[in-house]
Amino acid sequence: MSSQRLDGRARVLGTLSRWGPLSQAELARRAALAPSTVSGLVADLAGEGVLVELADRSSPGARGGRPATLLTLHRDAGVVLGIDFGKAHVRVALADLAHRVIGERDLPLETDAAASVHLQRARDLAAELLAEAGMPPSRLVGVGCGFPGPVQGTDGGAVDPAILPGWRDVRPVERLEAEFAAPAAVANDANLGALGEWTWGAARGCSEVAYVKAATGIGAGLVLRGEPFGGYAGTAGEIGHVSLDPAGERCRCGNRGCLEVLAGGPAVLARSGRTTLHEVVVAARDGDPGCVAAIGESGRWLGLALGGLCNVLNPQRLVIGGELAAAGDVLLGPLRTALAGAVLGSAGAGLDVVAGELGERAEVLGAVAQALRLARPLRP
Ligand SMILES: [Zn+2]
Repeated sequence: MSSQRLDGRARVLGTLSRWGPLSQAELARRAALAPSTVSGLVADLAGEGVLVELADRSSPGARGGRPATLLTLHRDAGVVLGIDFGKAHVRVALADLAHRVIGERDLPLETDAAASVHLQRARDLAAELLAEAGMPPSRLVGVGCGFPGPVQGTDGGAVDPAILPGWRDVRPVERLEAEFAAPAAVANDANLGALGEWTWGAARGCSEVAYVKAATGIGAGLVLRGEPFGGYAGTAGEIGHVSLDPAGERCRCGNRGCLEVLAGGPAVLARSGRTTLHEVVVAARDGDPGCVAAIGESGRWLGLALGGLCNVLNPQRLVIGGELAAAGDVLLGPLRTALAGAVLGSAGAGLDVVAGELGERAEVLGAVAQALRLARPLRP
């Protein structure tokens, strides 16, 4: 086979793995290949059984005719794993290369345990999901993994030991590749939340997106021109540590008056006098004035900081996720008002601010999306 043809073939497979089902015209456009080249490659790959056609039920043909056809990788072309390590949980999801999520599981995690304990939990969950799907581990073709803090570089990666002390001096990509015998990539959980919402949730179809995780901590993830953006050293999107009040309280990062200090979980608990964020969110949704005010103040601080982010990056959509976003308009109303007062007219024009659609699954589904970008399909 000519090298040009091999390159085209890899591009078709990689494009379908990354984007999921596509029409042949979309496939040609996203793979940057001529339509005639794509039809030849599609015919070959369909003949091998790697690629299949399916009816696009979202767009029935004109006057109720035959629905349009989409191309997708065969569901037996391999599976990928997404792993989300939180401060107190690990969540694992298994998906096929046709972008179907087959199963999800989670377990509690001790923050201070050794990396080997954390990896064993993830492996146990993965083994259960694979067994339930009747899928041998040899069909695993990619692993994506998120950590609750900055992750340096996706090639080898290093996790901030201030957040997970058991991962000090551990190279997570190497360890994951050894554990699962498949290519792996790692990222910060907010970056994966952005990728999850962009692939399956509230940011689908957007080119520039900022996803904000508003929970105990506050972080943001960016997808720019359809690609996750981690910055030079993996800390892009750390909006929680933008200082809004230089005379304010000291933050865990060492600076004063950070957004996280003013708007994060501990501030909400202190203002509301409640003990858990879940409790505050439920009471706020029921109209409890103290809880509405406590979350509303977080919304105002978030809006102010996000105005700065929008002026710099001009995203098309802001997706607000994390536990506080479950308060809906109690958070988003004050956030939108403060944002409108902080953003330039041109950066605010056409800007949407929406709640995330994936809830607590955003990060693990982003890890699945990251794995799909690495996956090389197998012959079914
Ligand atoms: Zn800080």
